Amino acid sequence: MSPYWSEVVRALTPYVPGEQPRLPNLVKLNTNENPYGPSPQALAAIEREIGDGLRLYPDPQGMPLREAIAAGHGGISPQEVFVGNGSDEVLGFAFLALLKQALPVLFADITYSFYPVYCRLYGIEHRLVPLRDDFSLAVEDYRQPNGGIVLANPNAPTGRMLHLEEIETLLTDHPDSVVLVDEAYVDFAQPPYASAAVLVPRHPNLLVVQTFSKSRSLAGLRVGFAIGQRPLIEALERVKDSFNSYPLDRLALAGATAALADRDWFERTRQAVIASRTQLSRQLAALGFEVLPSQANFVFARHAERDAGELATALRARAVLVRHFRAPRIDQFLRITVGNEAQCQALIAALGECLGAH
Ligand code: PMP
Repeated sequence: MSPYWSEVVRALTPYVPGEQPRLPNLVKLNTNENPYGPSPQALAAIEREIGDGLRLYPDPQGMPLREAIAAGHGGISPQEVFVGNGSDEVLGFAFLALLKQALPVLFADITYSFYPVYCRLYGIEHRLVPLRDDFSLAVEDYRQPNGGIVLANPNAPTGRMLHLEEIETLLTDHPDSVVLVDEAYVDFAQPPYASAAVLVPRHPNLLVVQTFSKSRSLAGLRVGFAIGQRPLIEALERVKDSFNSYPLDRLALAGATAALADRDWFERTRQAVIASRTQLSRQLAALGFEVLPSQANFVFARHAERDAGELATALRARAVLVRHFRAPRIDQFLRITVGNEAQCQALIAALGECLGAH
């Protein structure tokens, strides 16, 4: 606290991201990064962009990237795409641009913990809607007056996912509210689960947010985007142009556009993550964990007998980082990012030691 702080800053409770320690040889499974690295084509495009051209500001609209994103989604035009500096920024703009302040915004009690942070920043009232005991989301529980609905799908940190029909129910139940679907992990979902982006042409109240941080392995480049009908995108543009005209730099625009073009790399790496998720879930179950069904690049698991906080500390002592949230209902769970095969094996070996050492 400082006398120089504004009233707004005094009232903030900032989001705390998972740690990024600078230690070598860590098995880092705490922030849902992709173990396979970005497409070589994306890296080459970034390198090509380094030069005298950096004198110049980037395209303020990010048009080539918006065109590439639209081309990858049938029935969507570039005008129905918004790009920003990571999906956290896109979400931050969407909360300000689209959620009505007169009524509480609804989101789950167990979900991405950045949502209440945005609410505090903007003075938006919110109401938590509890997930069921098995951490699934009941869309009928949202039938109450609201100024908007926000959900992560797949949800974080649970990994559970709603079907498209359930998203559509939310959209038709609440025609006067924006339904913001945060799909940071959607590329790791398997049919019949799917992205809600296909519903955008039919639903003017739907905004779908995605990121290049997870399935495109570009968390360090900071690129996120939203898909929605023109009036919603225009609202995001109005906020962006009142804040920062150039949220995406030249390297980010070039790298993200090239990453989209490399379909082969995208498919191979995401299928590898999906296969490891299945294997990791089985191995954790064999060690006595209950593992929630996950459509994301992480699993959420609780051991029948061992305290999750103690396990996280014991893993850390063995140079394995996982995420543990000291929050109601989930403080006995560990959120474990699906790593590559060697990382998953190191985790299972370390866990075996921790459990055996009891
Ligand atoms: N949404 C969810 C549900 C997330 O878990 C994350 C990653 N912490 C984000 C959005 C933000 O990702 P990024 O800003 O890297 O796009």
